[in-house]
Amino acid sequence: MSKLRIIVAGAGGRMGAANLRAVATHPDLELVGALDRPGSSALGKDAGTLAGAEPLGVTISDALLPAVMKGAHAIIDFSAPAASVALAQTAANLGLVHIIGTTGCSEADDAAIAEAGRNGARIVKSGNFSPGMVALAVLVEKAAAALADYDVEILEMHHNLKVDAPSGTALLLGEAAARGRDISLKDNSVRSRDGHTGARQAGTIGFATLRGGNVIGDHSVILAGPSERIELTHRAQDRTIYANGATRAALWAANQPAGLYSMADVLGLND
Ligand code: NAP
Repeated sequence: MSKLRIIVAGAGGRMGAANLRAVATHPDLELVGALDRPGSSALGKDAGTLAGAEPLGVTISDALLPAVMKGAHAIIDFSAPAASVALAQTAANLGLVHIIGTTGCSEADDAAIAEAGRNGARIVKSGNFSPGMVALAVLVEKAAAALADYDVEILEMHHNLKVDAPSGTALLLGEAAARGRDISLKDNSVRSRDGHTGARQAGTIGFATLRGGNVIGDHSVILAGPSERIELTHRAQDRTIYANGATRAALWAANQPAGLYSMADVLGLND
């Protein structure tokens, strides 16, 4: 089997470094391009050196060079919403696999990404690429359904450089709880509380956000009932867990028709 040719977007970032290392060390993958933002200090550097590994002979670039894009099979993209939307359109035009880990997308961004999936791109988008988190979401959906009158609160903590809140993973868990209750998360979520908020409205799903230090990603879903409380918690200890999930998703999506998929699809949970 020939290797899957990968471009890493957001290459200069924390996840970019983890993704570059995961691609460089995977026997079935080959790094053919690395992208970062125009003006980024990463531009012009060797991707391997930037990721703290051996030089890879691939220079970080800010341009979607047609020659590189056409020679690639897949983009692994943990960057920023506007960049991911633009890359999804490129992936649709060229029929590429697009693995999107970027969080903080607006409804309009998500609609544009879904449109790219209808127009030829093979997209896997997830707020969290770790298999443990996919398993947690399954548990949350079941618990929210079984304990239908318990209050659901979602607490997350991340490092002090994270720019969006609640995290994509917190929203993913909220969606799982909402699915279990057969309600819309958008219409039933309380994304923050401040001041005289009044009593908690029954049936809502609450979010609380903490930021500090170098926490990679902690998430707890709390189901609070009249005389008991259940807490389902996931703690990421290393970004490798997300990068390995992203490479697994790329290899899986290479054999799928165009469309928009989730990590649960990759793990066969929706078969
Ligand atoms: P980060 O360190 O800030 O990295 C983001 C990188 O993307 C930076 O190098 C940034 O460049 C670059 N970038 C910004 N605009 C770009 C553009 N137009 N084209 C190409 N690159 C661009 O953040 P991170 O911690 O790696 O996280 C990146 C994203 O992944 C976030 O949305 C985060 O929430 C998400 N994430 C997802 C998962 C998951 O499993 N789904 C796990 C962890 C993180 P500059 O720094 O120069 O602006």
